Amino acid sequence: MIPLEEARELILSACPVMEVEHRPLGASLGCVTAEPIVAGEDVPPFFNSAMDGYAVRSADVTGAPTRLRVVDTVMAGDGRPLSIGDGEAVRIMTGAPLPEGSDAVCMVERTRSESDGQWVVIEDPVAAGNSVRRPGSDIAAGGEVVADRTELTPAHLGVLARLGLESAPVYRPPTVGVLSTGDELREGPAPLPRGAIRDGNRPMLVGLIERAGYPTIDLGIIPDDATRLRTVFENAASGCDALVTSGGVSVGDLDIVRIVLSEMCGPAMHWMQVAIKPAKPLAFGMIDGRLPVFGLPGNPVSSMVSFELFARPALRHMGGHIDVVRPTLSAIADVDLTRGTDGKVHLVRVLACVDATGRLHVRPSGGQESHQLRSMADANALAVLADGPGVRSGDPVGVLLLDGDRLHSSGS
Ligand code: AMP
Ligand code: MG
Repeated sequence: MIPLEEARELILSACPVMEVEHRPLGASLGCVTAEPIVAGEDVPPFFNSAMDGYAVRSADVTGAPTRLRVVDTVMAGDGRPLSIGDGEAVRIMTGAPLPEGSDAVCMVERTRSESDGQWVVIEDPVAAGNSVRRPGSDIAAGGEVVADRTELTPAHLGVLARLGLESAPVYRPPTVGVLSTGDELREGPAPLPRGAIRDGNRPMLVGLIERAGYPTIDLGIIPDDATRLRTVFENAASGCDALVTSGGVSVGDLDIVRIVLSEMCGPAMHWMQVAIKPAKPLAFGMIDGRLPVFGLPGNPVSSMVSFELFARPALRHMGGHIDVVRPTLSAIADVDLTRGTDGKVHLVRVLACVDATGRLHVRPSGGQESHQLRSMADANALAVLADGPGVRSGDPVGVLLLDGDRLHSSGS
């Protein structure tokens, strides 16, 4: 058996990083920048008001309360070249450009309009710059706005759009082909003949890959037939940047993924027994030196755990991410998480919740055998138990949070 980190390192070092492309902003959410992005202009581009109120000369209102003559009104988007002189004010709305000659804004709540709006009484003095947004006070021209190797969030897309950019230099997200192997596999509502089961891994893996941010190609169910599997692998080489398979990587005679990959990849095929439970067997190969193939185990939970620990980090590496592995958080075990010593790290399906003080707590979400996918569906995290007796109720335990959107308060 080889340690988890060693198996992952072997895979990461073999997987290529994708090429760089200039991608439309609308398709760049979640992509990783391939160079720093520098602002070509100031945002905001001009002095403007942060409040609804009156644009004034601060020198005119040092002795406030002061009465000023209102000479105009300016709304956001009004580009007329306005100016004010001594003793004058302009009614101004949030975001409107500051008239020439004014250097401060008095918020409307601290003013009193008189003579049908022709005059205004400013109640308090305001300093120069009060409620005024300077050009470049959000983003300054010439400065770096997005660092190299940043995963683009919705806010980044907003920043880039405000600078007038229509595309971003990012690593192309890999397209991933997904297939299931096994003579026993069927899909759909038709009654199952004896010995058959329905394919759960393919929809699950497609979902995991898409949630990781990568497009998928569904390559279907392939029976345990080496010739057919080889043809699928050969055809996929043109449209896919990586392949994820499930089943056929154990020690049985019909474990054809292992057999076909070793024929096609030669020494670039690695068949590993990883020191983890579930998901011990794993095949990884590079077809033609460029197409990574992740041969995940067939048992549904093993398939998902193996995807999380190996394929997801590798796809993220291909997509340009520097941080590819989920962080290990610390949680309190709400029940005993006992185990035996067997040389493996155990990954326990748990439901993580947040208590009133903000601390994480976990408890198992159900049965822990590797065919029991139901308890994976009820979990949002994996507790990581090092080799040994396990963790006692009330003690801290490391967890990999798989689904932060399903992290709720313990009371709810
Ligand atoms: P294998 O790795 O092919 O030996 O499969 C191990 C176990 O996982 C067997 O019980 C298979 O029937 C089951 N299995 C394999 N592929 C799938 C799948 N796509 N969906 C559900 N169960 C599967
Ligand atoms: Mg099989």
